[in-house]
This record gives sequence, C-alpha cells and structure tokens, in this order.
Amino acid sequence: MPFWRQLRWRIIVAQMTVVLVGVVVLAITAELVAVRTLPPELLEPFQEIVLRALLIAALAATVAGLISGLLLVREILRPLRQFARSSQRIAAGHYGERVESAASDELAAVATSFNHMAATLEEIEQQRIALIGNVAHELRTPLAGLEGYLEGLIDGVIASDPQTFSLMHDEVRRMRRLVDDLQSLSRIEAGRFDLQIAPFDMVALAQRVVAQIQPQIVARQLDLAIEMQHAPASEPAPPLLVAADRDRTAQVLLNLVGNAVRYTPEGGRITIRLVVRDRTTAQVCVEDTGIGIPAEALPYLFERFYRVDPSRARSSGGSGIGLTIARHLVWAMGGELTASSPGPGQGSIFRFTLPLARGA
Ligand code: ADP
Repeated sequence: MPFWRQLRWRIIVAQMTVVLVGVVVLAITAELVAVRTLPPELLEPFQEIVLRALLIAALAATVAGLISGLLLVREILRPLRQFARSSQRIAAGHYGERVESAASDELAAVATSFNHMAATLEEIEQQRIALIGNVAHELRTPLAGLEGYLEGLIDGVIASDPQTFSLMHDEVRRMRRLVDDLQSLSRIEAGRFDLQIAPFDMVALAQRVVAQIQPQIVARQLDLAIEMQHAPASEPAPPLLVAADRDRTAQVLLNLVGNAVRYTPEGGRITIRLVVRDRTTAQVCVEDTGIGIPAEALPYLFERFYRVDPSRARSSGGSGIGLTIARHLVWAMGGELTASSPGPGQGSIFRFTLPLARGA
C-alpha cells in the first residue's frame, strides 16, 4: 500500500500541516506588525528574535505533533488491526472469537457491534449443528423400526403378513413426512415460496378444514365447534373476508386443529373462534381442553423439532416442525401466530391473525 494511503501517515501529515500553517501565519503577522510599528533601526534585531523564537516554537510543535499523532495512530490502529484479525478468524470458522473494548467511545461502539455480530453468527452455527443432529435423530427412529421388521422377517421371527407390511409402511410414511416437512421448512425459511394473496371467506375455509378432519374428530369422540364473534348470530353466518393465501391458511388451520385433536383426550372439546380484532385484522383462535402446555415450554414451541414431551409426540407421529412452518406462513401473510395455555391439563389456545380484506 503506498504510504500516503496509510492512516498513520495521513494523521502525521495533518499534524505537521497544522504546525506549518501556525508558523507561517505567525511569521507573516509578526513581519507585518513590525514593519508598520517599529522604527527602521529596530526592525532587523526584532526579525532576528522573532525568527529564533519561531524556530524553537516550530521545533517544539513538531515534536508535540509527532508524539500526539503517533499516540492517536496507536489508539485507532490497534483496535482496527484486532477487528481485521478477528474477522479473519471468524471467516475461518472460529465463531467464539471476540474483540476487546476500545478506549474511545466510537471504537468501543464498533467493538460492541462487532461482538454482537460474532455472537449472532455463533448462534446460527450452533443452530445449524443442532439441526443436523436433530434430522439424524428423527430419521434414526423410523429407520430403526424398519430395520427391526426387516431383520425379523429375514430371521423368520416376524410373519410376512399384511399387518407387518402395514407397520413397515407406517415407518416409511413417517420418514416421508419428515423429509417433506423439512423440504417445506427450508423453502419457507429461505422465502422461496409463492403466496397467492386474494380475498376469501375465513368462515367457509374453517368449515372446509373441519369437514376434512371430521373422521379423526369422530374417532376420538371429540366435540368440535366453530364460533363466530365477527357478527351477530345469524343463519347462514356472514362471511369474514381476509386477504391471504387460501391454501396456506388452510394448511396453518389444519395443523393447529390437527394438534388440538392429537393433544386432547377423548371426550374433549375443540373450538375454532373467528374474531374481528380491529378495523384491519381478523383473528382465528383454536382452543382445546387438552393436555395443555407448561409455561416454561411456551417460548420454545415454535422452534424446529421442539416437543414438550418428545416420547409422546413422536409416538403420535409428530415431526415437531409443524408449528415452525405454520408461524413462518402466518408471518409471510402479514399476521402473527401465538400460543398460550393456563397450564398442564388445562387446555391450550393458539391464535393467528390475518389482514382483513379491504372494504370487508
Ligand atoms: P408435532 O408435529 O410434534 O405436533 P408441532 O410443531 O406441531 O409438532 O408442535 C410442537 C409441540 O407443541 C408438540 O410436540 C406438542 O408438545 C406441543 N403442542 C402443539 N399443539 C399443542 C396442543 N394443542 N396442546 C398441547 N401441546 C401442543
């Protein structure tokens, strides 16, 4: 790098320029004042004294300028070099790298931002590692099941009848669902999916989802109702027009109602409540009288692969990413998905909002 592009030399040149300008201005001013005010016989000795004084002052100012310039350079360059070194180490995969706080406020603020960025990168890396571990773990369970059946068949301990093949088919289906869910999640998280936003009636959509899940409701002897709070009770119910993607909204609602069915014991009740929250927002609540969610689990519910009770959820076939996908979909449609529960055994409520269609 040419020396004039180096910060060190630029600061020193700036200091020396100040010294030079000071000396020149002082010399010119002294000369002008002397010529105007002093008698000619005193002019020469005065100029000599001024010149000597100026030389001493210039020397002292140069030394002071050099020392202060070098100190300043050190204070700025040391943290900058550390930033460069640390960013190279982070780029090489050492995500635990942090920089020390600098003496000046401005550089200390940069150091804080740098460390914050490094901490975020470290967290993302840890999530990536955890994701690989989770995927391997999730695949291992159905694979182990399948392997067990195959070994049993080879050894002749398990009968090769339709029931065995149906159990094997279940394991393959679990793997397929996991792979499909992972693919959807990666597309959705990367924002690589299309939304067809158009006005549609949320009441009709809720009825369609209920019809779709009816066989499971009947099998589990559950009671499912749609309640409408967006208009006075009347028959047929007035439409609730929202501006969203109809299929994606159905996917979210089906996921929430499916979970409510899965986590509500026989004889329980599930309510889908449609509410106009304000002039721009509609809210859909899925409320159940099921096993509930402990308060400490609520913050993690929407994280990938999180399950309150892993053994129970896995045996009932959940992949633990349904809610992660649902929340991303709702976010993409301009809404918010939240969960609450009074506690274990006291049911759960999942709420999501969607924008109301204009003029609805
Ligand atoms: P899964 O496919 O395991 O159900 P989800 O992402 O849909 O995955 O849900 C994550 C976890 O949230 C579940 O494993 C369960 O512990 C909890 N959960 C979701 N919905 C309910 C509900 N209605 N009642 C109680 N727990 C629920």
